[in-house]
Amino acid sequence: MEQSNHRLQLANWTKNINPSAMQTFLSFADSPDFISLGLGLPDCSLLPKTIVEKSIREIIVSDQNSFQYTQPLSSLKQQIVGLMRERGLFCKENEIFLTTGAQQGISLLVRMLLNHKSSIITENFIYPGFLQAIEPYAPILHTVSTHFRNGINIDDVERILQSDCNPTLIYLVADGGNPHSVTIPLSHREQLASLARKYGVPIIEDDPYGFLNYDNNMLPPIISFDSEWIFYVGTFSKLLAPSFRVGWLIVPENLQKHLSILKEGSDINIASFSQRIVSKILENIKLTDHVQSLINFYRAKREAIHAALNEYFPKDAVYYLPSNGIFFWVKLPDWINMHEFFECALKDYQVAFIPGEAFSIIKNSANKNYIRLNFSLPTLEQIKEGICRLSKVIAYLKEKI
Ligand code: PMP
Repeated sequence: MEQSNHRLQLANWTKNINPSAMQTFLSFADSPDFISLGLGLPDCSLLPKTIVEKSIREIIVSDQNSFQYTQPLSSLKQQIVGLMRERGLFCKENEIFLTTGAQQGISLLVRMLLNHKSSIITENFIYPGFLQAIEPYAPILHTVSTHFRNGINIDDVERILQSDCNPTLIYLVADGGNPHSVTIPLSHREQLASLARKYGVPIIEDDPYGFLNYDNNMLPPIISFDSEWIFYVGTFSKLLAPSFRVGWLIVPENLQKHLSILKEGSDINIASFSQRIVSKILENIKLTDHVQSLINFYRAKREAIHAALNEYFPKDAVYYLPSNGIFFWVKLPDWINMHEFFECALKDYQVAFIPGEAFSIIKNSANKNYIRLNFSLPTLEQIKEGICRLSKVIAYLKEKI
């Protein structure tokens, strides 16, 4: 018998939450013919399983602390320092704070920075995990537009910083944004860093896709221009596998104690086993070689989806080839009814994407006809077939008008 506790009082913020679009469409994904261009899942098939197995074995045999409550793993922090050097940032071990994935890094930072109803500057289209992290603080969001080529609108950011809104933080993804896939140009990175410093407002630079650069033009992260006001969020989710749940923050050393206390309250500040596995894998492989294989693998998929969009999609659809990340962000013609398009694609054509609305803070007509397409997980054949099916849905909807 179903039981409900009518007297249980949940926090006010829970009244406004709904399952994400991602969760909802998973329920359709069982059929073998189904093609998902929806969720942002990495393709873990290149993960060297024998190395993972060897690494786990070595830890179990030789590391007595691997099942114990322990301090965050110093060797892993040192490896991250080395990794960040490849990314264009010179940082120190005592600036690295290990987290349970980027998502926890974001949650801890906002918990450290936000009060109830604090003001935040974000783009209108934004990673929903950030919105989930800030929800309990009922923040006031000041949204700025995103330029398809240059990313977050810097003039708008400065206008808000100059106003009396008193923002507490700025959140952005500088490389291969989720959902819009934009990589912010170098000069804009410098400007953003100097705005953060000038106005004393930290930027959370969420960077799951910076290493996945397809055109040999990887830019240094914004934190490389200012390590005091930019808080960097890194993760192994897209470099190794998301299930390890290992990520990191790079923040000034004096903030580490606050983060430690918050993390202790969240998960006792350890993930001894996972951290050791990741560290051992990094000892046993050359991560830069592995990432290069990932880049080559995803680049072929990026090209396949681009070619399919060029071949099948209406000529007035707008999209750009992303330099980083795992998504295409497409603006479809205004006549398309997005709700109908999504339903028909999912139910009648067995193909999924994420409507842009799932990422937008301001739901208005100008923002409604975007879609996000993932290319990391589907095969080359599925990519072509998926885009072809979407074009058939568009043709069907056109016939109806
Ligand atoms: N930030 C962004 C922009 C993401 O796209 C994701 C994952 N899709 C995350 C954070 C969370 O990553 P993790 O698995 O490391 O928690």
